[in-house]
Amino acid sequence: LVSREAKSDDTIIKIKNVEIGGNQVVIMAGPCAVESREQMMAAARAVKEAGARIFRGGAYKPRTSPYSFQGFEEKGLELMAEAAQQENLITITEVIDQQSAELAAQYIDILQIGTRNMQNFQLLKKVGQLKKPVLLKRGLSATIEEWLMAAEYIMAEGNYEVILCERGIRTFETYTRNTLDLTAVPVIKRLSHLPVVVDPSHATGDWKLVTPMAKGAVAVGADGLLIEVHPDPSKALCDGPQSLTPENFKNLVLELEPIAKVT
Ligand code: PEP
Ligand code: MN
Repeated sequence: LVSREAKSDDTIIKIKNVEIGGNQVVIMAGPCAVESREQMMAAARAVKEAGARIFRGGAYKPRTSPYSFQGFEEKGLELMAEAAQQENLITITEVIDQQSAELAAQYIDILQIGTRNMQNFQLLKKVGQLKKPVLLKRGLSATIEEWLMAAEYIMAEGNYEVILCERGIRTFETYTRNTLDLTAVPVIKRLSHLPVVVDPSHATGDWKLVTPMAKGAVAVGADGLLIEVHPDPSKALCDGPQSLTPENFKNLVLELEPIAKVT
């Protein structure tokens, strides 16, 4: 179902009045984690002001350490939906198990499967049964073939609205958090009809590298970008060093405009 042979024309996923996979670059932006009402309201305002339409934020955080902030769960979903409604934004959030998937589907427009869950097959089947678009991140050490087969799990359950997200892979290089595999974008375009977006925030782990890699992603044909933006990155509970300030985010969008139709 994922392959170009199965379907030759590009899949376009329509969510309200935004099309992912069409002739434009769709920007999804917001903080790593939902932290408070004030933080979410400020983040939503920043995303809207820069001209983006899709608001991200994590209510369930699968952290490397069990002692790190794990997210506000349902309260976080509520705060996110509230802030998005205020600014008329579409929402995306990560789900980590069957229960969070069911709950998030009641509040949020797009369900995200994180890199650590790319081969959580029960979870893939679950989101395949829910009537919501799914953004599937590439696993930390997943091949393109494994990633596409994970998308196949979702589609095999009847949900054809899958967006692939390249977010960097594990290599021997330690200077950056991960290694952004931009080659994956044209390879996916060759092998599949599904839209593909790039997350330069988690790929690099360094806010100064986000804008150059976002430009690279757009140049190689990405359908969208997933960018971490925080009203005050120095106070972020999660991923502050890779988060853009509202001002830096606005500049990123301005710098993309000459090279792509951005929304
Ligand atoms: C995230 O988007 O906040 C996240 C945890 O990403 P990843 O699954 O790519 O690490
Ligand atoms: Mn993050």
